[in-house]
Parts: sequence; C-alpha cells; structure tokens
Amino acid sequence: MAGTKGYKIATLGSHTALQILKGAKDEGFQTICVATSDRVSLYNRFKFIDKLYEISLFSDFPKIEEKLIKDKAIVIPHGSFVAYLGIENNKKMKVGYFGNKKVLDWESDRVKQRKWMQEANVPVPKRFKKGDKIDRPVIVKSYGASGGHGYFFAKNQKEFETRIKNFKARDFIVQEYVIGVPLYIHYFYSPLTKTLEILSIDKRYETNVDSLGRIPSQNQQGLGIEPSFVVVGNSPLALRESLLAEAFQMGERVVATSQELMDGGIWGPFCLETIITPEQKFSIIEISCRIVAGTNLFVNGSPYASLYYDKEVSTGRRIAMEIKEAIRTNKLKKILN
Ligand code: AMP
Ligand code: AMP
Repeated sequence: MAGTKGYKIATLGSHTALQILKGAKDEGFQTICVATSDRVSLYNRFKFIDKLYEISLFSDFPKIEEKLIKDKAIVIPHGSFVAYLGIENNKKMKVGYFGNKKVLDWESDRVKQRKWMQEANVPVPKRFKKGDKIDRPVIVKSYGASGGHGYFFAKNQKEFETRIKNFKARDFIVQEYVIGVPLYIHYFYSPLTKTLEILSIDKRYETNVDSLGRIPSQNQQGLGIEPSFVVVGNSPLALRESLLAEAFQMGERVVATSQELMDGGIWGPFCLETIITPEQKFSIIEISCRIVAGTNLFVNGSPYASLYYDKEVSTGRRIAMEIKEAIRTNKLKKILN
C-alpha cells in the first residue's frame, strides 16, 4: 500500500489491540493480531484485522516471532506486553518494536521511576521508608501490580502495622494517600518533530473505592468494608483549561529528563497518572511508558486530538501516523528498537 512500503502493524490481542489495529488500518497499513485461542473469535469479528495468528498462551509469542519478521511487521507494545510476557521477553524481541526498550527498567523499578519524576521536578506523593513514622493516611502498593490489584489503605501507623502483617507482597512501597481526583493524561511525544501532544484524558472507575459513597458512612459502620483500587472501567474527562499549561509542562519535563537518564529517552505514547487536589495541585502517582487502556475511550478522536488534527486520531492511530512519517523520511531506525 502507498506510503507503508509493505510494513505491517502487529500487536497482541488484548488491552488496546482493537484501537491500535483500527488506527493502523486507517493509515493504510496491513494489520496482524496475535491472539490466544480463547480470543480468536473476538478479533475475527473486525475487518480491519488482516491476519490473525493463533497462539495457545501469551507466553508463546516468541514462537511466532520469525513469522512476524518475515511479514515486515512492526510490533506495538501495550499493557499486556509487560503484564503477560514480562520485561525480559520484551527486551529479547527481535521484531521491530515501537518505543525505547531502555525505558522498561526505569518504569518497572519504583525507586528509579521516582528518581526520574523528581529529577523532572514533577510533584510526587511523600514516600515512607522502613522505620519512618507514618503521620498521615497511606496507600501500600506491591511492585509490579497492575490495574490496582494488591493495594491496601491505612489511615495511620497503627492500622498500617496491623495490615502489613497479612500482606503477602515482599516488595512494596508506602506512599502518602493523596485525596483528590485521579486523572490520567495521555501524551504522545514525537521524536521526529520533537513535539509533545496531549491526545486525551481519562478518569478511572475503581472498585470499590469509587462506589463507597453509594452507601452512607453510618450504614457502612460495622460492615468492615475496606477500600480497594481495582480498575473496572474508564470515563473521559476534559481538564479545567487553566490546568492544561501545567499538564503540558510536566510532560515536557518528563521527556527532557528521560533523555538525560536513558539513552534516547522516552518516545511515543505515555501516561502520567495524577491526582489533583482541591488546591488544584497535581500529584504524580505513576508513569506508564506506553499506550494505556484509558485511550480506548477515544477510538474516534478526542476533544484534544481534534485541536491538532482534522481527522479522528486515537493514540493507536497517532502511533501509525508516526511510523508512516518515519517510513516516508527514512527514519524508521530512530523510532524502533
Ligand atoms: P486484560 O487484557 O484485561 O487482561 O488486561 C491486560 C493488562 O492491562 C492487565 O495488566 C490489566 O491490569 C491492564 N488493564 C486492562 N484494562 C485496564 C484499564 N482499563 N485500566 C488500567 N489497566 C488496565
Ligand atoms: P496505580 O497502580 O499507581 O496506578 O494506582 C492504582 C489506583 O490506586 C489509582 O488509580 C488510585 O485510585 C489509587 N492510588 C494509587 N496511589 C495513590 C496515592 N498516592 N494516593 C491516592 N490514591 C492512590
């Protein structure tokens, strides 16, 4: 097809695959979905998927890698790549991979991630180290948790000490619990034009913390309900416009700092997971260094993407646009690993 020089866009059937492959098709690419047997019937429903490779388990991905290389496929990693394949298998991939693999180590190690955010001068919640006196409500997070599983809340030192006894995770962090609105900002950094865009924003729906308010506190008493943070959905959000300037600047500082800390820095989609306090201050709880699931709300564009483009641009499509531009200008090496 014109403009794509026979390159194909491939991803694992999960997470944001539909958005990524639809966006690739809209940009004129042939598309490949690698799906586990139980999901084949889902991905077969969509005409924008040209080829479907079936594997028994996500971990069988390396078995079809040779086929993908022969196809001239470019793989787009999403949340399931790290969750189901693990970092080492991502690093080992030889097929063209969109994004900088050097970022993986900085993202997965919470201590390194915090250093990155602090050097970028973005506000992060206070962290309590072993032996520190806990003087405010905290959230305890295990390493490598995904989708908010395996976290607990403690309102003070005493509660923390009781709960930590039953906590199974060996590696965890204890962080100040910031009260405010959890807001996820979906950025895209183009290494070709050196510009940062905000493509969309979402707010998560987490159970049960987002639904506890349905039962008045006096009725909850005695029920022993604990807040949990398991994500079950996302809703779109438009940010108060006066906060947008800070949102852009934070993203730009995160990109600039990544270029100092890791060879090549971060590029492509990433997300700052923030909480905005009533004082309208951002607190950054995490960075996700790839496309996040909240972007699925915006398959047909978003209020922010429309400010840059006169067509419907999702994050998935934006990735395909970047790849197409790199093919056109002979810079594919610059954006693949
Ligand atoms: P799944 O295909 O639903 O098993 O999800 C793949 C990975 O993405 C898992 O690590 C999930 O925890 C994560 N994930 C899926 N949907 C969302 C979401 N809406 N928000 C955040 N993470 C998600
Ligand atoms: P994470 O795995 O860091 O994305 O966190 C999952 C969810 O836990 C977030 O969406 C928040 O609802 C909650 N959370 C995590 N860290 C904090 C924090 N420091 N303060 C308040 N809520 C938090």
